Amino acid sequence: MMNPKIQDAINEQINAEMYSAYLYLSMAQYFEAEGLAGFANWFKIQFQEEQAHATIFMNYINQRGGRVLLKAIEAVPTEWESPMAAFVNTLEHEKKVTALINNLYTMALEEQDYATRDRLTWFVNEQVEEEDNCRTLIDKLRMIGDNGMGLYMLNTELAARNYTAPSALSAE
Ligand code: MG
Repeated sequence: MMNPKIQDAINEQINAEMYSAYLYLSMAQYFEAEGLAGFANWFKIQFQEEQAHATIFMNYINQRGGRVLLKAIEAVPTEWESPMAAFVNTLEHEKKVTALINNLYTMALEEQDYATRDRLTWFVNEQVEEEDNCRTLIDKLRMIGDNGMGLYMLNTELAARNYTAPSALSAE
């Protein structure tokens, strides 16, 4: 039987991961409309990764004999002023997710739920990577400025990104 407080908090986290998935899918559609298919590809992979994050938490609740309860996903923005604005939004959003994961980690410690704490360690490290990837792309866009050739090259670079299932998903 799962600690009900932890179960509720993980169900909230599943919703937050699904919101992230929906946000990045929306960004992918924005970039498609802008003719930047490489950027759209990058965000479609983000979309897949976020769905995997939600799945890892769902698998975990089920493994512990708990109950997954899916809630409504909040509406997401559909327009951004520029590629830079979309990545700044992504970084701000990932910082919020990092705070949620940290709060969950603190709760697991307080509730002496060590299995949950152990599962969360993967997410703590994943958030470091998410924020770093985003900062790197913001730095590249800053270098590019309004240089069309630079944007063309970054679009080509981002088109080459492939989806790899997160290790925590295959470990289930
Ligand atoms: Mg996530």
